[in-house]
Amino acid sequence: MNSFQAEVTKSIFPPLTLIVMKTYCLFITMFTCTLTNLFGEIKNGYEHEISSIRECLKNLTAIVDENNNLSAYQTRKIETKIKSLVNDISYYELTEKLLYQFRTIAPALYNEIDTLTDKKRRRVNVYVKFIPTDATQVKAWGTTYMSQSSSDPDTSCSEYGELTVSVKIWMVNKALLVLSHELGHVKYQVSHLVSYKEYYEKHYYAIMSQSNNIGHDTNDPSGNSAKKSEQIFRKEYTSFLKMKNGKIQSPVVLMKEIRKNLGNDKYTYGSILLTGGLLN
Ligand SMILES: [Zn+2]
Repeated sequence: MNSFQAEVTKSIFPPLTLIVMKTYCLFITMFTCTLTNLFGEIKNGYEHEISSIRECLKNLTAIVDENNNLSAYQTRKIETKIKSLVNDISYYELTEKLLYQFRTIAPALYNEIDTLTDKKRRRVNVYVKFIPTDATQVKAWGTTYMSQSSSDPDTSCSEYGELTVSVKIWMVNKALLVLSHELGHVKYQVSHLVSYKEYYEKHYYAIMSQSNNIGHDTNDPSGNSAKKSEQIFRKEYTSFLKMKNGKIQSPVVLMKEIRKNLGNDKYTYGSILLTGGLLN
């Protein structure tokens, strides 16, 4: 087992305590989830919040730019908030770029998940976020979260509501490979939610705290789907490199460019980003 596999073996259904916690949150979400999901697809996990983040950032930078009588304490507080908002925008844009890269390298694999349906042939949205390294409770390069709806065990749920799955990928060099692995889990689990939940409980609950191979028993169909998806991506990536059709930049390089561009965007973000050194 290489280090990549060692890291991602914890990545499917989270440990029991996490499932319980997530399910609790989802029950709250489900009461407000009334949208019928007609158009399932892969989505940027930050997209729901990005408009309000941009608006908030614009307002805060205007306050600082237009007020000369703010105390040092008030300025510091606002700058801290601005830094946090800029950080969120950076990860939104990074996710956009990495999803685009994934689609460019492996279009068929991307399209398969982009049109994913569950057992009842309903479209399911897969929300993907690329996040800072080590930012998840489960220490794995990739994590896939889904639970069952209390009203229908075949309906997947995540923090995004019913008929959704949430995938989080650390911003590591192999981020796209990790994504392909997680999407393999998603593909199997969405269409076999009830049977796989039973399999998971039977095989893993008793050994949850001692094993670092949760989700990857020899005959685990979800684990096998993840490995197959990973193999397809590796093959596609090799072909892509041979064709020399484009350049793939690492998440770190992409993030540097994104932050540099944000710093140049005076119109949207105000001069504070440049003068305050907030993008460093
Ligand atoms: Zn896995």
